[in-house]
Amino acid sequence: MIRFVDLPRQIASIRGELDAAIDRVISRANFILGEQVEIFEKDFAHLCETKHCVGVDNGGTALELALRALGVGEGDAVILPANTFIASVTAVSITGAKPVLVDVDEKTYNIDPALVKAAVTANTKVIMPVHLYGQIADMDSLLKIAIERNIFILEDACQAHGARYKGKRAGSLGDGAAFSFYPGKNLGAFGDAGAVVTNDGELAEKVRLLRNYGSKEKYYHELVGWNKRIDTLQAAILEVKLAHLKEWNQKRLSHAKMYNELLTVIEQVTPPYVPDWAKPVFHLYVIRVPRRDELREFLSEKEIETGIHYPLPIHLQKAYLHLGYKKGDFPITEKLAGEILSLPMFPELEAREIETVVSAINQFFALKS
Ligand SMILES: *Cc1c(COP(=O)(O)O)cnc(C)c1O
Repeated sequence: MIRFVDLPRQIASIRGELDAAIDRVISRANFILGEQVEIFEKDFAHLCETKHCVGVDNGGTALELALRALGVGEGDAVILPANTFIASVTAVSITGAKPVLVDVDEKTYNIDPALVKAAVTANTKVIMPVHLYGQIADMDSLLKIAIERNIFILEDACQAHGARYKGKRAGSLGDGAAFSFYPGKNLGAFGDAGAVVTNDGELAEKVRLLRNYGSKEKYYHELVGWNKRIDTLQAAILEVKLAHLKEWNQKRLSHAKMYNELLTVIEQVTPPYVPDWAKPVFHLYVIRVPRRDELREFLSEKEIETGIHYPLPIHLQKAYLHLGYKKGDFPITEKLAGEILSLPMFPELEAREIETVVSAINQFFALKS
């Protein structure tokens, strides 16, 4: 059996360190905003090459609170790609603002700046690029639009921990960024967690208040906020894992290279496209193929797990029919949804497993042609 993501394998490799970190939190019983939270925030900001990091309870919250801290609400519009996980869009709609979807670039699968430019109106307050699958969007083109039109950029970096764009880290490229530490992400907790990073001290302070009932000093509240704090336990676990992130990302990159090389002989497969300026972290390794569903079934029979990210675009989801989009509005996103397939990808994946996956794909297309 080749798993899509094999967390037990990763946990086993650092079990001792994790047990010790968890034990320290239990011994001190500092479960809420304990010192490990501050330590992790400092170290994660360092990784992202930003000045500030504020830990929250999940990635969706990180997006939401960053938007709220930027002043986004009723009457505002936020432009984001149609090809994303639902949380990007939910974060916008729960602030009361309107999500404005645009299609993606056919090669990178990330937001298309030309379409963003065309979608900007007087109500546009934020552009939210999503660094899908761990590869950063075309930030220079987006920043140009944002600066010209006086719009904020909030990076949805929930899949891009440690990725680089022209040498700069994901999270350091806009006004702020949101990360998710969902267990299967490149940096994952033992439950839900997330963070906002930014170079803007005021923005960070606002998010810090919003996540903690509007309070800096216990029982004194400056604004109406929520309880959306990161747990000390999760921060302590993340701190242990953070020390391994660069090595893990490096391994993902070399697995992707191996997939690329082995897959070149299968003409039906389109491997991921990586522009010169990108250094992705391959949260997912996504190929495009004809007869995707048949291939997926074939692999599943051979006990190879795969995924589809994502099978139904946002604008065709029941939850977002009220936005008024229809089938055909985002042709590239819609086409991708029928052709993309995410292959097993995690740092502990072994070379012989990659070979097994590729030879099964080869076998499928040899049988079918
Ligand atoms: C995972 C993810 C989120 C949300 O993260 P949660 O921690 O699950 O709330 C948002 N955007 C993208 C692109 C994601 O992959």
